[in-house]
Amino acid sequence: YFITFEGGEGAGKTSILHAIYTKLKGEGYDVLTTREPGGIEIAEQIRKIILDPVHIEMEERTEALLYAAARRQHLVEKVLPALKQGKVILCDRFIDSSLAYQGHARGLGIDEVFAINQFAIKDCMPDLTLFFDIDPKKGLDRIAANKDRERNRLDLENIKFHELVHEGYEVLTDRFPERIQTINADQSMEAVEQAAFDCIISHLK
Ligand code: C5P
Ligand code: MG
Repeated sequence: YFITFEGGEGAGKTSILHAIYTKLKGEGYDVLTTREPGGIEIAEQIRKIILDPVHIEMEERTEALLYAAARRQHLVEKVLPALKQGKVILCDRFIDSSLAYQGHARGLGIDEVFAINQFAIKDCMPDLTLFFDIDPKKGLDRIAANKDRERNRLDLENIKFHELVHEGYEVLTDRFPERIQTINADQSMEAVEQAAFDCIISHLK
């Protein structure tokens, strides 16, 4: 069962993913956690290239293609074998990040970015996607308060961009209402975690 965690910056995706991993393990599920871009050597290398601030001049289509390439390799090397073994996979970001960030926010168009991603993933869409919904300004404030967090191109992007990303996710929840479930991320971490856990459990049963 393939579950992806999506949302803008500071929504709490990564922390909640790890908390959910522990809880699902406790319930006896065989769980694997991973992330995008990355999760395996080749894709982590691609991640470095994309997110390095010295590459700020990278053109949008190049960026979208690199994300799709990283996605393909990660899928083939890690996700598909785990699915075959019957694992529950929790993946931090997947195709919807590309649709929201490159497709909507960077203006390439959701349909165009979807097309190159269909080439990359074939028909391997997530079974369930959680969209962690928070006002972008609040998300960015959370990140600013966390000094240990990894910095990347994010520092070079402004609030307008993150509002577009959020809008992109809203378009996607309308387009894929069955697959994408919205979780209110503007609550305490415990409350968000519980909401995400309940949603996942109800789909696994
Ligand atoms: O998930 P995480 O916050 O580690 O993502 C790293 C960065 O990659 C984020 O700042 C996000 O803006 C960027 N990203 C992107 N397009 C994607 C996936 C991630 O711009 N498709
Ligand atoms: Mg994260």
